[in-house]
Amino acid sequence: MKIINKLLMGLLLISSIEGNELVLKEIKDVGDNSIRITFKLDKVSYLNSYALNNPSRIVIEVNQSELENIIDEPYNYPIKKVRASSKGDVSTIVVDLYESVYWKKPWQVQTKDGVLVNLEIKKDRNIKQNIRDIIVAIDAGHGGKDPGAVSKNNLLEKDITLLIARELERTLRDTKGYRPVMIRKDDSFIDLNDRYQDARKVGADIFVSIHADAFRLASVKGASVFIWSEEASSITAKNLSKKELKNNPSIKSKIGKLDVDDFDEDAARTLYQLVYEAKIKNSKILGDKVLEQLKRDPFTKIHKKQVEYADFRVLKSIDIPSILVESGFISNPDDARRLKGKAGRRMISRSIFLGIHNYFKEKPKPNTFMESMPDHVIYEIQKGDVLSEIAIRFGVTVEDISNNNNLKNKPIYPGQLLKIYI
Ligand SMILES: [Zn+2]
Repeated sequence: MKIINKLLMGLLLISSIEGNELVLKEIKDVGDNSIRITFKLDKVSYLNSYALNNPSRIVIEVNQSELENIIDEPYNYPIKKVRASSKGDVSTIVVDLYESVYWKKPWQVQTKDGVLVNLEIKKDRNIKQNIRDIIVAIDAGHGGKDPGAVSKNNLLEKDITLLIARELERTLRDTKGYRPVMIRKDDSFIDLNDRYQDARKVGADIFVSIHADAFRLASVKGASVFIWSEEASSITAKNLSKKELKNNPSIKSKIGKLDVDDFDEDAARTLYQLVYEAKIKNSKILGDKVLEQLKRDPFTKIHKKQVEYADFRVLKSIDIPSILVESGFISNPDDARRLKGKAGRRMISRSIFLGIHNYFKEKPKPNTFMESMPDHVIYEIQKGDVLSEIAIRFGVTVEDISNNNNLKNKPIYPGQLLKIYI
């Protein structure tokens, strides 16, 4: 049996490398002091990217790819050169730099003749070491023709999930060091495979899926947090995921039918066992942090006190810590009322935000803004903001904000930066 497995793995390896050639496409100035470096691949790939200092450089490892030609390309300041070499089935791209830069995590774009891998760097004299934003993929459950759960008075899960997602997006967007990416921005249908494929393409550091449940018993209520498991340990969770499939036959028909240039997470799980194990461990930490915040929220009741395991397909990426937050049961009148109101949804998004932030405090990503700000965040005041609302968003008091930023009796203005200790 073991030998057969090994043979199968070998075959998988060969078949997936085949035709995944890495080529340097172009390096160009894109304005705003930024330079974009574009590579071409045949399929969406599992990338690992990081920055190093002294000497300053950015590294991208492209797994299961091959180089047709050695890449060794000089470019304008601050790039010394872009080079690449390969070892086994990993091609390693190195961008050698003269100084530290603000860099965007590489992202992949599917085009009709292959996949483009983009890396963008920006000159910034104030930066002391290479730094990038943390990318949070926010997945608002359901959408379009798939309403998700529907309450007795016609509250739709897809509407609630999108509103919570937008709240979370807002907080992350205006907080330095984070970049939210909405998997769905509006009321459109996106199938489950595309949701995690899209998270990989944007280079998500974590993936958060937002849902709201329904149950035949109106008394069942409260929020819960799930992480992926091949063998769901919770029977409730199993029933849930089956139900989600039953409610949506179009999702069911999509199972196992990935596009040819998609990344096959199932095959990769065997190939990158250690990466996958770390992902599960980190998903659990992230889930625990969010659940801890939900428990503190006075408005939200908890359905399950522990992080649950389920075979929710959106969570199955091999390397991106992923959680699914059920924000409550819209079949329960209390939960429905809470999720229908802005205040209730804001509390859910705040718990998720604080959970995410505490996760990165515990597992800091090297070369991100988080590393240099362990005890506070910097929030940029937006038009229409009031301090009381900002305080709620971050779970602090107006007085805290006021004291830490010398705001006593002074007006606040858009663009102003606030230090918020969380
Ligand atoms: Zn759902």
